[in-house]
Amino acid sequence: MARVTVTRFAPSPTGRLHLGHAWSAILSHDFARSRGGQFIVRIEDIDGTRSRPEHVATILEDLEWLGLEWDGEIMFQSRRLDHYAAALDRLRAMGLLYRCFCTRAEIAAASLAAPHGAEPVYPGTCRGIDAAGRIDEPHCWRIDMAKAAALAGPLVWTDHGVEVAADPLAAGDVVLARKDAPASYHLAVTIDDAAQGVTDVVRGRDLFAATHVHRLLQALLGLPVPAYHHHDLLVGADGERLAKRHDSPTLAAMRAAGEDGRAVAAMLRAGRLPNIGASA
Ligand code: GLU
Repeated sequence: MARVTVTRFAPSPTGRLHLGHAWSAILSHDFARSRGGQFIVRIEDIDGTRSRPEHVATILEDLEWLGLEWDGEIMFQSRRLDHYAAALDRLRAMGLLYRCFCTRAEIAAASLAAPHGAEPVYPGTCRGIDAAGRIDEPHCWRIDMAKAAALAGPLVWTDHGVEVAADPLAAGDVVLARKDAPASYHLAVTIDDAAQGVTDVVRGRDLFAATHVHRLLQALLGLPVPAYHHHDLLVGADGERLAKRHDSPTLAAMRAAGEDGRAVAAMLRAGRLPNIGASA
């Protein structure tokens, strides 16, 4: 029997949504709907210092304004900390995690440039240190990527149906539990995609590199592997990413200005940018 397609939109409520987010939500929504599947929404609010409840309400209004209906209950990551803690315990018991006491400044000073350009690769300063006398000091938990990758063996995932060899080592020893939050994005997103039965992850190409890490975590935790569909990011006429533009209006601002969200969505689907000033 063919499985039901399930996609998700998983915003972090740390700010207002822009057209780039709208594009991602539309693609994920349409992917599911065109296959008679389900589209769900997950609020990735584990970052207690940056997440704001008022942004959650605005995000949901934005989705309604765009004409995107979601299925079922909305999942909030902030209510699922026990699940992340249990997964961390398992990985710890496998000997794959270590405490890292480095400050941001220390990491920035010692880090190697990442091959993908974005995130600096942690140089492994705390790997193998004796942390016994320091556990009261602030620390995060990192995964020993070389050890984890060796344990998992060769892995593949698919992007738009094309097989990709997982390369988790490129990301280095990423953080799985932060100093200020009980889980990191990588851990929570992997666990929740599985928990929600997501079959197809439709998200921006900026998260392509992260998928190597997610694939490894799936293998270590015995989780199913969704199909991935990383989409191109929306850019303005000048080629700059809309999300990075200072003058890119928020969906809330467009809504307040009386714009028709369904018309905006239709325009994006037709491959056109709504008139948003300088870039249109
Ligand atoms: N919460 C992430 C973000 O807002 C997206 C997570 C994902 O799609 O995997 O950037």
